[in-house]
Amino acid sequence: MGLSCGPMKQLILKPGREKSLERRHPWIFSGAVARVQGEPGIGDAVAVRAAGGAFLAWAAFSPASQIRARVWSWHEAECIDGNLLRARLHQALAARERLLAADDSDAMRLVHGESDGLPGVIIDRYADVVVLQLLSAGAERWRDELAAAVRELTGCACIYERSDADVRELEGLPARSGLLHGSLPAAGVQMREHGLVYGVDVAQGHKTGFYLDQRDNRKRIGALARGRDVLNCFCYSGGFTLNALAGAAKSVLSVDSSADALALARDNLGRNALDASRAEWQEADVFKYLRVLRDQGRSFDLIVLDPPKFAPTAAFAEKAARGYKDINLLALKLLRPGGLLASFSCSGGVSAELFQKILAGAALDADVDAAIVGRFAAAADHPVLLSFPEGDYLKGLLVRRA
Ligand code: SAH
Repeated sequence: MGLSCGPMKQLILKPGREKSLERRHPWIFSGAVARVQGEPGIGDAVAVRAAGGAFLAWAAFSPASQIRARVWSWHEAECIDGNLLRARLHQALAARERLLAADDSDAMRLVHGESDGLPGVIIDRYADVVVLQLLSAGAERWRDELAAAVRELTGCACIYERSDADVRELEGLPARSGLLHGSLPAAGVQMREHGLVYGVDVAQGHKTGFYLDQRDNRKRIGALARGRDVLNCFCYSGGFTLNALAGAAKSVLSVDSSADALALARDNLGRNALDASRAEWQEADVFKYLRVLRDQGRSFDLIVLDPPKFAPTAAFAEKAARGYKDINLLALKLLRPGGLLASFSCSGGVSAELFQKILAGAALDADVDAAIVGRFAAAADHPVLLSFPEGDYLKGLLVRRA
């Protein structure tokens, strides 16, 4: 009965609502809950039971959230405590041990939330700096234990907390960020990815400072860039730009609406032995600027579209679809014959199937023939648990214009 874990706090499901847990999906939605017993506090471990009383899982209780509980363990005998979390972290690190060996990279995601058995916990490593992001009530409850385990198991000199993502509001948690251990390097955080050097703004940058999920895709774009005129839309800190330049692109035009992002990207270019004269930068709204490029009669051999999340959930899918269709239609028209479009979506609310349909609609309306010649997903340090398809948020298509 797990009584060694403290007084019995329980969450009893409505009849028939145990199905998703039986498939090992780690979320329990508020609508599935019949009643809560034992007055669990925010983030406390509760035993989840079917209407008939059968044990289903140990989960973290989140009274404010639609996701009322997230599963820590499927085993009744397991005790939810710092040791369990430490073991999960150890497992996540072991699974990544050989991941970057041949990569000339020193930055990666160490823990990817639900898919690493640690719901709501994101841990990214940039060289000797670890960034911890806690996104759920359960993760927040074990903050001290997690930080101690990170310190012990990674041996990193500095741990920085970036628990300031919007989703914390849904869990009733305030935003928090700052140093947890050690100090940030005086010269700033610097990391390597595929032999290229980047500065990372862990305190103010997007997510935990860098879009690690695109690591392998950036390399693939670099390999396609030789001799090509490249347009990189939504460039942020310049990952695709630098890879295209390193891959001997003829020219790279990078666009972002944020002056800060462009400053980061230019700074990153300066950190590497790359030909800055082949790089052009534009601060602009991509939706408008693609039209400007069209009106100027510009054209490109390789275009990257990596926009921010348009649809966090399926409820926003329709509006997101219009946005994706618009930029993809315009991009396809800017491609020279034989040119390539690498188009991404990191919207959890837009499935790979829907994304492909959107691109098909864009090609039709652009009146161009195009074929899929490659597909993209997040790098291997962002695993997707088979029982948790929500983890599969990043998708991309490489399309060749006839
Ligand atoms: N490709 C990047 C990540 C892109 S993140 C990488 O590999 O690191 C999305 C970027 O889009 C952010 O930098 C944000 O500033 C920018 N952005 C958001 N809306 C935009 C818009 N309408 N026009 C141009 N840039 C936009």
